[in-house]
Amino acid sequence: MKKILLIGTGGTIASAPTGEGLAPGLTTEELLRRIPDVKKACAVDCVQLLALDSTDIGPRHWRMLVECIRENYGGYDGFVITHGTDTMAYTAAALSYMIQNSPKPIVLTGAQKPIGFDTTDSRANLTDAFLCASADLPGVSIVFDHKVILGTRAKKTRSHSFSAFESINYPELAVVRDGVLLRYIRQECAAAPIFYPELNHNVALMKLTPGADREALDFLFTRNDAVIIESYGVGGVPQEGGFYDCIKTWKGRGRFAVLTTQVENEGSDLSVYHVGHRLKNELGVLEAYDMTTEAVLAKLMWLLARTRDQAEVTKLFYTPVAGDILWTAGR
Ligand code: ASP
Repeated sequence: MKKILLIGTGGTIASAPTGEGLAPGLTTEELLRRIPDVKKACAVDCVQLLALDSTDIGPRHWRMLVECIRENYGGYDGFVITHGTDTMAYTAAALSYMIQNSPKPIVLTGAQKPIGFDTTDSRANLTDAFLCASADLPGVSIVFDHKVILGTRAKKTRSHSFSAFESINYPELAVVRDGVLLRYIRQECAAAPIFYPELNHNVALMKLTPGADREALDFLFTRNDAVIIESYGVGGVPQEGGFYDCIKTWKGRGRFAVLTTQVENEGSDLSVYHVGHRLKNELGVLEAYDMTTEAVLAKLMWLLARTRDQAEVTKLFYTPVAGDILWTAGR
């Protein structure tokens, strides 16, 4: 029988009404008690690492998760992490860079409705997560609404429906149908994982809006090593407002600008329009291509903790990690 470690962090799945809104209160043992049949399929130990709404989860907690998995890696066949849905895609991306090449499944799940509610997706998601953590499903993934999504490709796209997550610019790894795992893709892995506990937190994200000028971008560059600019369509910055000069100035001071798009699907290509072309060819800014914003943020935090050298950063940024980018490989 497979041994699985259940790591609780809070979220709706473990929440109960408080009179001031839902808040995480249930322990991992209590979650497990709601799905008694799981014990017939695998042996589960529980760790209550955190009890937070995922709005409160950040790099400090990602490091705690990595440490917990590293300490217990030898003792278990797989890991299930219960997590709030709001920032689950960020955590999944972060873990994909911080724990690379894992031959054992590291599965995140959660729910849109608490496990104690009559109508809930909690029990199905948790049951599916244990099935996946007991299977040959290497690497980090999100299991939600019977879909298995690669950790670097997940995005929360619905705020209420059970079908909360989508796989962006990449097929789903698997689906769970009537309790059977149908795996379409097997992630590459190694005999043992590599753990990267260090992150550089100084990465910011700015969403472009019509009429904006360089002021906010200047401010973000004063405080950060890299700024991701979520622009429009296939990518570019307005010709008015001083954006081009702003990026040029900060790039000269060793900061990194990364262009991505507000459009959820299909990614960037700065070479298409004049508004993007100049950034790429004259300034050499980085671009996300088919990576999600969540993955770009986590990848920058991971790689900027290793190097600040322009050439090295560029090389690492475009090198695929955990299936995060296909565009560069296809060129
Ligand atoms: N606010 C909750 C959280 O992210 C939402 C959820 O879990 O679905 O923790």
